[in-house]
Amino acid sequence: MIDRIIFATENAGKIREVKAILADLGLEVLSLREAGLTTDVVEDGDTFEANAILKAKAVNGDAHTIVMADDSGLEVDALHGEPGVYSARYLGEDTSYRVKNQAIIDRLAGKSGTERSARFVCVIAAVLPGGTVLTSRGTIEGEIGYEERGEGGFGYDPIFMVPDLHRSTAELTAEEKNAISHRGRALADMKEKLRGLL
Ligand code: IMP
Repeated sequence: MIDRIIFATENAGKIREVKAILADLGLEVLSLREAGLTTDVVEDGDTFEANAILKAKAVNGDAHTIVMADDSGLEVDALHGEPGVYSARYLGEDTSYRVKNQAIIDRLAGKSGTERSARFVCVIAAVLPGGTVLTSRGTIEGEIGYEERGEGGFGYDPIFMVPDLHRSTAELTAEEKNAISHRGRALADMKEKLRGLL
């Protein structure tokens, strides 16, 4: 019987979101660390799907465990989808997000309105005990702001403006962000797929 999900991330913010959203499935949800595991996977896929599956397959589950992983990033249309699957590595893994965010703002100089369109994308992969792989994808559409705004969230949140709310995703509470975010939507979709199987 499947009774737990190991979510292959060491990111505390992500695991908090995942636990909140998956709580009503009735399965124990553990981070890698909580499960006493580590992985060291090279994310060299060309797509979010490929990387999410790579990360989930890198963890050995057992007959009671669903292993899940996500891959996510920011796609800026005027930059032909950059930084995309390279979002974490854009300008170098150790470069601060202040610098990465300012670089994106600078590259959009002279563009306004819908010319600044962008989206966050998240793909979740789940590997079931028999080896079956499920994936789900969630997106949130927005526009790149003209300056960093807000202290919440992480990564590119301070420059990602949600048009209907006139706020950046760094200016939303965690609950507000979970309700509309790419990761929230991908997780909700995965939850429905799993509900049909459990
Ligand atoms: P991952 O951990 O390999 O999925 O890398 C995702 C990268 O995409 C992060 O390091 C961020 O740069 C960016 N990213 C993904 N989701 C978000 C988000 O919700 N807010 C801000 N940046 C994000």
